[in-house]
This record gives sequence, C-alpha cells and structure tokens, in this order.
Amino acid sequence: MSILVVGSLAFDNIETPFGRSDNTLGGSSTYIALSTSYFSDDIKLVGVVGADFDEEHFQLLHNKGIDTRGIQVVDEGKTFRWSGRYHYDMNTRDTLDTQLNVFAEFDPHVPQAYRDARYLCLGNIDPELQMKVLDQVSNPDLVILDTMNFWIEGKPEALKKTLERVDIFILNDSEARLLSGNPNLVKSARIIRKMGPKTLIIKKGEHGALLFTDDGIFAAPAFPLESIYDPTGAGDTFAGGFLGHLSRAGEINDTELRKAVLYGSAMASFCVEKFGTEKLAGLDLLEIDDRYQSFLDLSKIDDQ
Ligand code: AMP
Repeated sequence: MSILVVGSLAFDNIETPFGRSDNTLGGSSTYIALSTSYFSDDIKLVGVVGADFDEEHFQLLHNKGIDTRGIQVVDEGKTFRWSGRYHYDMNTRDTLDTQLNVFAEFDPHVPQAYRDARYLCLGNIDPELQMKVLDQVSNPDLVILDTMNFWIEGKPEALKKTLERVDIFILNDSEARLLSGNPNLVKSARIIRKMGPKTLIIKKGEHGALLFTDDGIFAAPAFPLESIYDPTGAGDTFAGGFLGHLSRAGEINDTELRKAVLYGSAMASFCVEKFGTEKLAGLDLLEIDDRYQSFLDLSKIDDQ
C-alpha cells in the first residue's frame, strides 16, 4: 500500500527538566515516516528543507527505505526550526520559538509518481498547505490529518475547510478543547466529527488515547514508562504507527482501527525513551510486537 506523508522537517531545540538537546532532527513528517517505516516499504515524503539539511539527515531517512525525492531543497534558505520547553510532568510544554524559514514560502508540489498513493498522511503543517496537497492527489483511499494549537489558533477557518476532506483526524486533548470550544472531550469529539472526519483520535499524553468512530469509543492506555527523556514527536510517531498498522492490515474496520491505536501507542512509547528521533531510528519488529503485546496485557484480566 503506497503511503504519501507530507509535513514539516525540522531542527528542534528541546528543553526538559532533565536535560536539553539543540539542533536535533525533528519535524512532523520525519517522525511519522520513521515510525511508519517499520510497517511499510512504500513511503514517499513531500516537504521542504534548507541548505542546512545535510546528507546525513537524508541518509537516516534512506536507511529506512523512505523515498525523499519529493523533498524540495531551498539552497538559499534555512530549515524550519522549533524550540520547546517541557514542564516538570513532561506532559505539557511551551513553544518558545517557531521559525517557519523555508516553510514561509513553501508551495508543495506532489511529484507525478506520488499522486496515486493510496494512503495520504497530512502531518502538522499550515492547513492551507495541507489543502494544496489534497488538491494534487488522485482520490486516496484514506486521508489522515494531524495538527497543533499553532494552526488551530492561527488558521482556524483554513483548518475547518481542510477537515471536510479528511477521514481520520488526530489531535491532543488540549487541541480538541480549543478547536471545539468545549471542555468535555466526549462532547468535543462529537463537535469535531461533525466538521468532517468520521474517525477521531484524541491523544492524552501519558493518559493514553481515545478513538471515536460510529461504532463507539475505544480507550487505549499509555505505556507506564519509568524513564521519559523527551516527549517531542510522540504524537507524530503515534500517527506513524497507527497509519503503518492500517496499511499493513490492508483493510479499515473497527477492529483494525483499535489495533492501530495500540500500535501507534507502542511506537510513541519508544519515541519518548530517547531525545529526538534517536530511538526511532534503531528499532526492530520483534520489540515493536513485544511492546504491542505488553499493551494488550495492561488491561487483560485472567479470571481462571
Ligand atoms: P509533536 O511532539 O508530536 O507535537 O511533534 C513535535 C514536532 O513538530 C517537532 O519536531 C517540531 O519540529 C514540529 N513542529 C512544531 N511546531 C510546528 C508547526 N507549527 N508546524 C509544523 N511542525 C511543527
């Protein structure tokens, strides 16, 4: 199943109560594509970087079989930069700085060879750019969209227009409250699903994730980890694992959606164990399946 991922490629400065990391490779599409790469060998990436995006960064993506021919390189520009600081609970963070750089002028071009991708994942970028991508693809089977408070507050109308064309929408609890204008997540979900996406996932950081479909609500726990180094990218990594499982399953029904939420949660739990993309770059399928099994065991009861 061919997958097209569009989103940011970035250098991040991350501060947590336990350390900091500067100029770390990040960005929504980087995390999504790395995470999905454990489930699919047909991933194509569209995005934009500056001259500071080195060969070693491309190499990291190539090593995972990701097709990067759709990444535009702006020789006279700088790659998108984001700085964030996590609070003591590691569940909430403040954005300290966002430098759009090459993203400010980005006009996404989906190469001809990418246009018939069956699954489209629109990672967190300007919703107007997400819409431009939607206009260039030929009728994908599934459109997944992620966003963040920056765009909900900055471009709410463009986001709502884009949402009308989305099948599965992934966002976190504070973003859901912000977008719906309602503090209750179940009510928020109802309001947001009326905007277009029939399937909605609300991530709650260390408290797990909720899946809302026509069939009801599914609640997945988060993995109780002893050491969390850096939550950056966990949401995108979740989206990547979720998408990866669905593409591998080849069908979309309530059971596969529920499994996909657990695979997404498993991938996110790896992501936070090291800074940036470090952990995601070196996993294997066995440990991913082990973690998935641990998720199932978390709420299993043996009453025999
Ligand atoms: P997450 O922790 O899953 O929300 O994703 C964090 C990643 O999103 C970081 O690597 C950032 O580079 C990237 N990011 C932060 N703000 C934005 C933004 N406004 N647009 C696109 N990507 C962003």
